[in-house]
Amino acid sequence: MIKVAKFGGSSVASAEQFRKVKRIVEMDPERKFVVVSAAGRRHKGDNKITDLLLLVNAHIEYHVDCTSLLATIEERFLDIAKELGLNFPVAEEFAKFANEIKTYSPEYVVSRGEWFTGQLMAEYLGMPFVDAADVVVFHHNGKVDMERTQARVREAVVRNGGSFLLPGFYGATVDGTIKLFERGGGDITGAILARCLDASLYENWTDVSGFRAADPRIVDNPRGIHRITFEEMRELSYMGASVLQEDAIFPVREVNIPIQIKNTNQPDDFGTIIRENTSEHAREHLITGIAGKKDFMAVHVQKAHMSNEVGTVRKALSVFERYGVSIEHIPTGVDSFAVVVNGADVKDTIYSIVSDIQQEVQPDSINVVDGLALISVVGRNMSRRAGTSGRIFGALGNAGINIRMITQSSQEISIIMGVSNADFERAIRVIYDQFGQDVVENKGTQIQ
Ligand code: ASP
Repeated sequence: MIKVAKFGGSSVASAEQFRKVKRIVEMDPERKFVVVSAAGRRHKGDNKITDLLLLVNAHIEYHVDCTSLLATIEERFLDIAKELGLNFPVAEEFAKFANEIKTYSPEYVVSRGEWFTGQLMAEYLGMPFVDAADVVVFHHNGKVDMERTQARVREAVVRNGGSFLLPGFYGATVDGTIKLFERGGGDITGAILARCLDASLYENWTDVSGFRAADPRIVDNPRGIHRITFEEMRELSYMGASVLQEDAIFPVREVNIPIQIKNTNQPDDFGTIIRENTSEHAREHLITGIAGKKDFMAVHVQKAHMSNEVGTVRKALSVFERYGVSIEHIPTGVDSFAVVVNGADVKDTIYSIVSDIQQEVQPDSINVVDGLALISVVGRNMSRRAGTSGRIFGALGNAGINIRMITQSSQEISIIMGVSNADFERAIRVIYDQFGQDVVENKGTQIQ
């Protein structure tokens, strides 16, 4: 069995964190492949190496001297190497990099965060270092060439005796030009590697013990989510409960490799396992998690006999499309509908949008409600059970919270409610307190 273990920026931020990583890797002989991010923040107020390198690029672009910035970056690597007694020639390699800095592309400069961190970690773990530029192959359009990447990964496995360390976040086109994933993209490298190796598990080590059933800034000590499906995770992440780079799930999801989120600082915590279908356990929570976001806006459109007309909703939606505004939800009634959008997306255009809808749809009335918060209650176990939404709405009603909008995702795995911004936190607490711990029996399923 092969596991790919990816360690995020905070897990490799200092010599102390390096020690934790080594302990974790050595604990399980199946952890044969390691991916690292660039060293991240050691404490609040500290800088991520990637951010500093982006700043280097900005200095170069505006012809500002970046000597002291480069020295700060070098210092971070020197500190780690010194404290762990590593032989990697940080000073020489960094001097080469700094002297030639103006000849490099911005993407190359940023990729050195992962490259240096990876070199140090590879030596410390006693694993061969494989340069991502040699194995992660990008098409010129920025997408990964999975076929070539897989072939190169497999060659690298053979060449390096079945185990290696790969820096995350970058790769290269066939002509050797360095390309980056988007921010947080080390997660994507890990997922791609897991897929190319046909790994049994993709471990994503970070600084939290996986997903929680609610935001701990709102709910006191919410329980952790041990098992979640990819679909549920997308719903929760979209609503702000994000632990993993979103694009990281696709390479592993397609081939059914589970992802386990683990905490480098508390490795004994179970964390969260994300997979396509969580095998049904006899007892599971009714609600997997609750997440939400504030500051949405709803444009309510009412038109008598709309139900007999064709194209009314389309006309309204095409106005939003013209203004490049993405739509979150469209709750509908018989003679009315609402278009819910992110408030920030229409900050400067809402008056023009309303007046265009007025002209093109000719509704009886149109009104805009802002300050709307959306709360999504997500749970695969809700779908086969009658009455869950009724209970949720009842609980909110008893707490005096007015629900201003209701929709349900088409697969019935989430119920989405709109409440006033002012009721947002309280509504989440009410739902969590009343249902967060509820357990349901899945009859006739295996017990694990
Ligand atoms: N170092 C990159 C970033 O800070 C990528 C990563 O950490 O995954 O975004």
